[in-house]
Amino acid sequence: MTLADVVASTGSMIVVSNRLPFVLVRDKDGNLKRKASAGGLVTAVAPVVINGNGLWVGWPGIHLNDPTEPIPESDPNDITPTAGLKSDKVVAVQMDPVMFDSYYNGCCNATFWPLFHSMPDRATFKGEHWKSYVKANKEFADCTIKALESLPPCTGNNDMPLIWVHDYHLMLAANWIRQAAEERELKCKLGFFLHIPFPPWDIFRLFPWSDEILQGMLGCDMVGFHITDYCLNFVDCCQRNLGCRVDRKNLLVEHGGRTVRVRPLPIGIPFERFVELAEKAPRVLSTNQKIILGVDRLDYTKGLVHRLRSFEKLLEKYPEHIEKVSLLQISVPSRTDVKEYQDLKEEMDQLVGRINGRFTTPNWSPIRYIYGCVSQDELAAFYRDSAVGLVTPLRDGMNLVAKEFVACQINIPPGVLIVSPFAGAGETMHEALICNPYEIDDASDVIHRALMMPEDERILRMNYLRRREKLNDVNYWTKSFLSAMGSLVTQDEQDDVGSVTMPAVTLDDFDEYLAKPKLPRRQKPECEGTRRNCLIRKPLN
Ligand code: UDP
Repeated sequence: MTLADVVASTGSMIVVSNRLPFVLVRDKDGNLKRKASAGGLVTAVAPVVINGNGLWVGWPGIHLNDPTEPIPESDPNDITPTAGLKSDKVVAVQMDPVMFDSYYNGCCNATFWPLFHSMPDRATFKGEHWKSYVKANKEFADCTIKALESLPPCTGNNDMPLIWVHDYHLMLAANWIRQAAEERELKCKLGFFLHIPFPPWDIFRLFPWSDEILQGMLGCDMVGFHITDYCLNFVDCCQRNLGCRVDRKNLLVEHGGRTVRVRPLPIGIPFERFVELAEKAPRVLSTNQKIILGVDRLDYTKGLVHRLRSFEKLLEKYPEHIEKVSLLQISVPSRTDVKEYQDLKEEMDQLVGRINGRFTTPNWSPIRYIYGCVSQDELAAFYRDSAVGLVTPLRDGMNLVAKEFVACQINIPPGVLIVSPFAGAGETMHEALICNPYEIDDASDVIHRALMMPEDERILRMNYLRRREKLNDVNYWTKSFLSAMGSLVTQDEQDDVGSVTMPAVTLDDFDEYLAKPKLPRRQKPECEGTRRNCLIRKPLN
């Protein structure tokens, strides 16, 4: 790690998230043990908390009969990013299990998840779950204030603690944290990041207590979303629901005598970690067929049924792919106790069976379907060795699989990424082929195009996709958040987040590509007239 990779905050950072960065489990002797999380966010954020002597507030994944039972220290052999997070820097939020279930499953998963993904028909609005959500947020806010009180008093703006609240589980907490901090004369900065989409006003206002949500989020100094569209939706809701004065150009909302900044902060992945995994992972796919890869939690937002239907259409319309191409779909079990998710699993099982029954030949099956988790090594090998990454959610805040796929595309020539315009990744990964998952027929054409794409077009597209994700990795995201909060410690002038920009794509790049004599005319990329699926001529940033 170079000096420029070290991310640090000027004051101690308190992260507040529904889950701690590890879960607690009981071993066979009944002792509590930590089980680490390997996610990219934890990898990027935990060092900032640890190095700045900050704290992490969250639910530990287990209901303790005795809430005073001490949190264990990490295992001495633990080398994960949270190993250095001492137990006195962890605040484990405990709640009555029935109340927690109502807050987490009843409100977060059954209301906010579908509503914020613009699927209001799937959302339930129950007053009792909303009450639990309010109570749970209050509990998180109380624990955060205790965490803030445990920090040494700050001496000025340069060491002001930074509280970072995460995601749709905790949209109310900031307001109470602010009030309690002001009452106790504790100085702090408050930032929020939403990891899922923020819906347009006509969807958001369906929620009966939508005003309270906005007021909760506006307790922060800065509110971050993945992309500008979600920022604009939020600003619009503040104006239309609450009557706030807003500035759409500069993304500002006036509320309670303060100005709240709204910022697009697209999350990245630990790019180099995926490259290393891809370099080391042994081959797991032993086939000459081209693999189209899908990797998703089994969730109705991911568009899995539409995806299978598009693949079926591909085989119908372009039979030349029969016995040459397979779809490998990894579906990670999710919320398996919820009927809606059980129904989706049933539908997928039946659809896979029907399509395979229709097209399978003695030596080939069109769909390989894995219902389960795969290891990181295996995942990297799948990403690396697939010809097409098919990321077609109906709605998705960002979608990290799209980014991990391009990071692992280290083979020359590389594969092709197809991404839905309804994912944050579709907004930011300009050189991917864009595919509307609802247009089954058109989607099959896009898959066909990806399978037939000439090598040099694949190389050009993938080079730019990889370059962007390498620069805008998860460390860059953490830096951008700290910078937006005015809490980034810069190593030197060069290390300023503002100076990390994407090199421009020049017309020369395209002239060079288009001038290649060996390309027949019809295979040239369609660069005129429409933005869709064209190599973008304007500079990337
Ligand atoms: N993933 C995993 N194990 C698997 C399949 C996927 O850990 O068997 C990870 C994958 O690497 C990615 C995450 O799950 O980091 C999925 O994130 P994404 O943003 O695509 O969707 P989400 O599930 O958060 O909605």
